[in-house]
Amino acid sequence: EDAMPEMSAMTPMMAQFFEIKSVNPGYLLFYRMGDFYELFFDDAEIAAAALGITLTKRGKHLGEDIPMCGVPIHAAQEYLRKLIALGHRVAVCEQIEDPAEAKKRGSKSVVKRDVVRLVTPGTLTEDDLLPARGNNFLACLARLGADGEGYALAWADISTGDLLLADLAKDTLADEIARIDPAELLMSERLADQLTETRVLPLDRLAAISRRPHESFDSETGATLLRETFEKGAVDPTAFSRAARAALGALIAYVADTQKGVSVLLRAPKIEALSAHMQIDAATRASLEILATQRGEIRGSLRATIDLTVTGAGARLFAARLAAPLNDPDAINDRLDMVGTLIDHSIETDAIRKTLRAAPDIARSLTRLTLERGGPRDLKAIGKGIAQARALAATLGALSDLPSGLKSIASGLDAAPQILADEFAAALADEPPLLARDGGFIAAGYDAELDTQRRLGSESRKVVAELQAELVDVTGVKALKIKHNNVLGFFIEVPATHGGKLIEEPRFIHRQTLANAMRFTTGELADLEGKIARANQIAVEIELKIFDRLREAAMVQSAALIAAADAMAALDVSAALATLAAQRGYARPQIDDSLAFLIEGGRHPVVEKNLEVEGQSFVANDADLSAPESGDGGQLWLVTGPNMGGKSTFLRQNALIAIMAQMGGFVPATSAHIGVIDRVFSRVGASDDIAQGRSTFMVEMVETAAILNRATKASLVILDEIGRGTATFDGLSIAWACVETLHETTGCRAIFATHYHELTALSGTLSRVSNHTMSVREYKGDVIFLHEVVPGAADRSYGIQVAKLAGLPAPVITRARQVLDLLEAQGQSNPKSALADLPLFAHMPAPAARAAKPDANPILDMIASVRPDDLSPRDALDWIYELKKAA
Ligand code: ADP
Repeated sequence: EDAMPEMSAMTPMMAQFFEIKSVNPGYLLFYRMGDFYELFFDDAEIAAAALGITLTKRGKHLGEDIPMCGVPIHAAQEYLRKLIALGHRVAVCEQIEDPAEAKKRGSKSVVKRDVVRLVTPGTLTEDDLLPARGNNFLACLARLGADGEGYALAWADISTGDLLLADLAKDTLADEIARIDPAELLMSERLADQLTETRVLPLDRLAAISRRPHESFDSETGATLLRETFEKGAVDPTAFSRAARAALGALIAYVADTQKGVSVLLRAPKIEALSAHMQIDAATRASLEILATQRGEIRGSLRATIDLTVTGAGARLFAARLAAPLNDPDAINDRLDMVGTLIDHSIETDAIRKTLRAAPDIARSLTRLTLERGGPRDLKAIGKGIAQARALAATLGALSDLPSGLKSIASGLDAAPQILADEFAAALADEPPLLARDGGFIAAGYDAELDTQRRLGSESRKVVAELQAELVDVTGVKALKIKHNNVLGFFIEVPATHGGKLIEEPRFIHRQTLANAMRFTTGELADLEGKIARANQIAVEIELKIFDRLREAAMVQSAALIAAADAMAALDVSAALATLAAQRGYARPQIDDSLAFLIEGGRHPVVEKNLEVEGQSFVANDADLSAPESGDGGQLWLVTGPNMGGKSTFLRQNALIAIMAQMGGFVPATSAHIGVIDRVFSRVGASDDIAQGRSTFMVEMVETAAILNRATKASLVILDEIGRGTATFDGLSIAWACVETLHETTGCRAIFATHYHELTALSGTLSRVSNHTMSVREYKGDVIFLHEVVPGAADRSYGIQVAKLAGLPAPVITRARQVLDLLEAQGQSNPKSALADLPLFAHMPAPAARAAKPDANPILDMIASVRPDDLSPRDALDWIYELKKAA
């Protein structure tokens, strides 16, 4: 609607529509019409296609049909969810006056409408629209001043009120945003353009980006907003950087904008210092499949395997901790102490988990109440939550020698306001309805006036029943009934055959004649009806007043309620980790600030679990990357061995063990000693990144560069087959130089899996490099993987055996074996070609080349190359078919 059509040519309703539409550009307008939200013009076309609903027409605009589609109010949530998931934003426009009011103004006058809410991916508060076990973050990125100055990222989950903040350097932006994984990211037009141009952020792959006007990112305005939003003195804006103030300000303003003035309960911003966390960059997160698999699914990820929390808030905290493990040994040990204590008290831990499982999501209920979207069930939930929090505090209190972490959880739980729980328990019915609107949620005996009105209502209803009996008597019509519907209210109904009798009587006033029945009323009945309606109305008014009072009482206690909710979430996480450790036989890691990395009997948590499902067992392996007393840094293990031998699994399990340990959990190992790791890097070679238009090799090198530039002595580096995306000698040389640099300059703890057996020579010159290999056994020409890491270098790669296992046709296997024999024979006399894992056909030696000559007979060659002993009867049959094809 670029050109506003002439107002005079429009119906008043269309004029109203265009006006509202023009102040909410970029949003699909849900325009309330009775029991429907209707969409018009382009919006209708977009929504109909996205939702798979019918596109129709309603009236004409400037002589053209107006495209229209509608969604019923009762199903609106589901449609909203779909539209938001598809990246659309929706403006919800309601009628803001009683249609009767509009009629009073004149027959042409339209009901006043306005947008009451903008629905965007980052500003959802409805349970139906939110992931129960995940956070839904709205993030806001700001940068002030010239290029080079710092960035700030603020992020909030408005469904829980969490608000966080970090000052960031350019090179950590992408990684932090990947960690937080916001549903929506705000930034100024200008910044979005710059970041896209310079490719600092893969904006196209990120959550929905909302470009905001540059002016909304202002540190002064931000400071003012902060002072206004939080109670006096609760937040000191000068404690934040200028960029941080701007980011917070823009975020708060956006939230206010989308909620249309309804205030959101945000907590005072918490600064997250990057240095307090183990840094895990985006590529590492993806390759280790920490919160989601590479395909973006939670199933199959580390989180899915180890998260045993039983509440939504617990699951959100678990994910946050797993995404940002700690760096400080004391803080980690505090968490481990909690897990240890809960393991020791397994009976209490089971009881705690049982209580938690039934616990409501206090934070989200509180938020809905603040936003005036809450109902009686939210109050009920809060009351129940308080009772549970206090019960949990009592359970914890009964345990001896609580570690400090559990003590502070217990005091958070204990602070839950009992008075509020008592009040809510007394006030609310057992199973209150979802909405306050229609009443019926306040318990009997709580409010004398309410009870009186309800009694009046129900007594009148009793009188109605008595009246029916009386009328049956008086008229002699046994089938006479008093019924109720929304159109007539109470009425007397008799079969049509008896209708005549009643019409005669002046006492009965005729209302309606149906095919088989006639309906009447009487003065008495109308009176009773009026009494019931009045009593009902008064009762609902009383209930709504009580609701407001109870809601207010909850708001007043929100700090204590949130503290209790946080404590419950923290307890859930610790109890989940304790249960996990007990169920799966995990061990407490020893954590300090040394450069140790000694894992005994380590396992890969996800692979182990998957194997178990198939009835197989995982082979545990040790790893020792600890810096020797005398050495300048950690050890570097080179792992060689055949494909499918278990190299990647081994590499990853060590990184995962470090992450689990530093999040404060027990680890899948018999013992582990880890000096805190500041950064973990994991790279897997040859992963294609076509979406970003960079070649495999380029990606690999960019990522390898990131490691070499950023890894420190305290880092853990896992490199799997780096350098494969290019010609053999290039790749080998690069891998060689990387190992040297990691060893000589970085000094980090590292494991390097490689196909380049030549690299194993480095252990001769670099003191902290050692060779390890995946043990295999050969059996009748087949290879059996033992999945055991043993000292030494692989002597061969068993590629042909693996290919055979994979089902490569027998003739190809046979031929490959023959070529390999030739190559190996030649390798002995020709050291030059012994250096490489030769690409077979490019380096085909003379005898094989001869076979390709035009005058050679392919059949004879096939016969010459077959090794009958290697063929099963089935292979032989296949080979005969091949032979026939070649003839
Ligand atoms: P590679 O990287 O050497 O090709 P992987 O690590 O991908 O090998 O392992 C291949 C398969 O072997 C895995 O999918 C898993 O099923 C199995 N495997 C790996 N390590 C072990 C182990 N330690 N114990 C049991 N099975 C294992």
